Amino acid sequence: MIRIENINKSYQKNHVLKDINLSISGPGIVGLLGPNGSGKTTLLKCFLGMVIPDSGDIIFNNSSTLGQFAYRNNVSYLSQIARFPENLTVKELISLMKEIKTGRTREDRFIKMFNLEKELSKKMGSLSGGTRQKVNITLALMHDDPFIILDEPSTGLDPLSLKELKEFIHEERDQGKLIIITTHILSLAEELSEDIVFLLEGEIYFNGSLNELLTEQHQYNLENAIANILKSTKTECHAEDIEI
Ligand code: ADP
Repeated sequence: MIRIENINKSYQKNHVLKDINLSISGPGIVGLLGPNGSGKTTLLKCFLGMVIPDSGDIIFNNSSTLGQFAYRNNVSYLSQIARFPENLTVKELISLMKEIKTGRTREDRFIKMFNLEKELSKKMGSLSGGTRQKVNITLALMHDDPFIILDEPSTGLDPLSLKELKEFIHEERDQGKLIIITTHILSLAEELSEDIVFLLEGEIYFNGSLNELLTEQHQYNLENAIANILKSTKTECHAEDIEI
């Protein structure tokens, strides 16, 4: 369970997160959505300890995360731009990641799911974009953590791999995990998310179930609901620009 309390963050004069209050508890899949620049990455990075908020607190499982690191052992994070040493092979990277945390790992599941056997001895720098993303997902999710953050998980994935990943995400949810997903593919967000947090200019515009959002906006799908919000708030962007 995460509780974000009165979080503010500015970069110079740019007030990016404006007194954010948010509680998210599992199990479940939450879509964190909002136009480019609305503060999604900054909010996630505050939670992950990669950005220090100017004020406020973030509570994870009843303890403040600020200045702490142990809680990160419970969090798997797939970043949008993963950076791993290009000169290491996939196999070497998997071995390194195994060392980082204790507990069981399930890299074999991903190697089979994404057909990575032939790639194991290749260097990271030599992989195609799609294969890289499969390796990124393997490295990010191989530890069996109760809390998962996925930033644009579908980038570069072929339809079959995406289908397998969606099944995996649903299985994780059914095992009682909390999963937060950001994506600019609104059909994917709609397919996966039970709850939606919609950020607009550093403030939470909507926080509730997908069904509540559709009812509130009198729309039958997420894309139309988001387009409706942006039209009513006259935000200068298009529904397809919704991403972290
Ligand atoms: P989103 O993920 O919703 O696209 P971000 O959290 O990445 O939004 O960015 C929110 C705002 O903060 C943007 O105006 C962006 O330019 C700014 N920003 C993000 N990171 C930095 C940084 N490290 N330094 C200065 N400004 C930043």
